Amino acid sequence: MARSAEQQRVLEILRRLKRAYPDAQLALHYRSPFELLVALILAAQCTDEKVNQVTAELFQRYRTPEDFVRARREDLERAIYATGFYRQKAKTLQACCAALIERYQGQVPDRLEDLLTLPGVGRKTANILLGNAFGKPAIGVDTHVLRLAQRLGLTHQNNPDKVEEDLNQLVPVKDRTRFCILMQAHGRAVCLARKPKCDQCVIADLCPYPDKPKASAAPNSLPKNKKSLNLLRLTTRRK
Ligand code: SF4
Repeated sequence: MARSAEQQRVLEILRRLKRAYPDAQLALHYRSPFELLVALILAAQCTDEKVNQVTAELFQRYRTPEDFVRARREDLERAIYATGFYRQKAKTLQACCAALIERYQGQVPDRLEDLLTLPGVGRKTANILLGNAFGKPAIGVDTHVLRLAQRLGLTHQNNPDKVEEDLNQLVPVKDRTRFCILMQAHGRAVCLARKPKCDQCVIADLCPYPDKPKASAAPNSLPKNKKSLNLLRLTTRRK
């Protein structure tokens, strides 16, 4: 089936970002699907760096869903205090672990519909788990994926579920998890939330973001070749 101009633009974005961030990986540290699940719950309204600091100790003390369920709530709250919203997160963690024990023999399930039944697990968390812990390609729309997809003109939606739908139309299945990791890497290094460094961006000529510096002030953002200029023209003309 012929690819649309937008799908071709996404392929070129992927190709360049893979080259720019060959070692990019999920910023959260984990050794098992269960540890990633806990880290993702703690990551709400918190930086990945802070979550990693907290889980480095947390996973020494609490290793299994049973450990979390048996823990005294105050002890757990103290252990995760630095991630913020610690009362709600402790409650969610214990409810989620209880559900894992009750319905999934203490194992994190590897199907989207099962994951979505767990307390504290929405589509973002479920898809990040599927893609990274189970090797099932999926688009998990976190803050970086959302921001970059919008700036790159890959979606006009604000609702993460709708953004996921739009990206699923554009990103090849096998590349979906890597696409998100590359968006995160680029979002952290160059396409910053407050002030994107468009003059240092390797995909600037493929990006219609309106506030980037004018080409004359940012030589690196000039289209690198006729093909990328045409890709951008073709895809932006439709909007
Ligand atoms: S050109 Fe600017 S807005 Fe577009 S992806 Fe690059 S850094 Fe982000």
